[in-house]
Amino acid sequence: MKIAFFSTKPYDKIWFEPMGKEYGFEIRFFEMSFQEETISLARGFDAICIFVNDYVNARMIDQLHEMKVRAILLRSAGFNHVDVQAAEGKLCILRVPSYSPEAVAEFAIGMILTVNRFTHKAYNRTREFNMSLNGLMGVDLYQKTAGIIGTGKIGQAMIRICRGFGMHVVAYDPYPNKELSVEYVSLEKLMTQADLISLHCPLTSETKHIVNRATIDHMKQGVYLVNTSRGALIDTDALIDGLVAGKFGGVGLDVYEEEEGIFYEDKSGEIMQDENLARLMTFPNVLITSHMGFFTKEAMQAIAKVTLENAYAFENGLPLKNRVSAQQAG
Ligand code: NAD
Repeated sequence: MKIAFFSTKPYDKIWFEPMGKEYGFEIRFFEMSFQEETISLARGFDAICIFVNDYVNARMIDQLHEMKVRAILLRSAGFNHVDVQAAEGKLCILRVPSYSPEAVAEFAIGMILTVNRFTHKAYNRTREFNMSLNGLMGVDLYQKTAGIIGTGKIGQAMIRICRGFGMHVVAYDPYPNKELSVEYVSLEKLMTQADLISLHCPLTSETKHIVNRATIDHMKQGVYLVNTSRGALIDTDALIDGLVAGKFGGVGLDVYEEEEGIFYEDKSGEIMQDENLARLMTFPNVLITSHMGFFTKEAMQAIAKVTLENAYAFENGLPLKNRVSAQQAG
């Protein structure tokens, strides 16, 4: 099987290269992202392997189909960047539904601890022997209420962590998990009750801008918000207005609405054209990271393993348990 691997970073090769050889796959690693301008590179390959900031729209599906590419291997759980409906009957889409939910949940709580206790500022201060504590006061998480939106694999890991901190946990999910002993509440109630809101739902037409002007209005004064799911769950303009109005105790963003083409790239030598991103960087209580919640050794290894197992199953006509269906894409 010939696989064109896009958006390659050095760390991708650590596991994909040796594991791909074991399967006998021919993997060609391209540094370029997968987009309309680079689609021609896929010619001659059986499958493409792409990451979260690559995209495949309906027109590109037709082009891939015409090139006889048969599968899209997503090395991610989320699949909002691919037109799954358009691929029905043309290309098989396979994903990695779970690799390390704990990696993302641990990162989410780390972001909250950072913005709450200002360790990012303390790190810089103490390196200059500025031992002043002015401006670094946080709040206890103990006995506060955590509101978890989406109680899938990562949401559940986050619930366990928040309980470890002695927090009361409420959750919202339109498909409540009956096995889970957590108090499900309406979205509105969660927004009004929670001291910490953590987003763990996928990006769909229903969840786009689930955090918007109205929901921010409902939130408690001084609320902490963390988004490790997908950027467009938050209406960035509304978030900025909320930050300016002093609504938030702190905000952690591992994902950003317009991250494509910016996240995972070194833009330090360029003028930042994205004004909202530049504005967000100016708030002392906002921490932005480059979509790295997943980035642990365990998760990277699991991503390579499952992606290549998916490819092997596809090639050999085995059951495709990680196939993304148009129904799932809603
Ligand atoms: P999952 O499929 O196990 O869980 C998602 C949950 O969201 C499900 O319980 C589902 O019922 C719920 N949901 C669906 N629609 C909803 C809605 N309208 N409101 C609230 N909840 C809703 O997924 P997961 O593995 O827990 O991952 C969650 C998200 O995390 C993924 O969709 C992905 O976007 C993101 N993610 C980010 C990183 C990162 O590095 N930052 C890594 C992996 C996944």
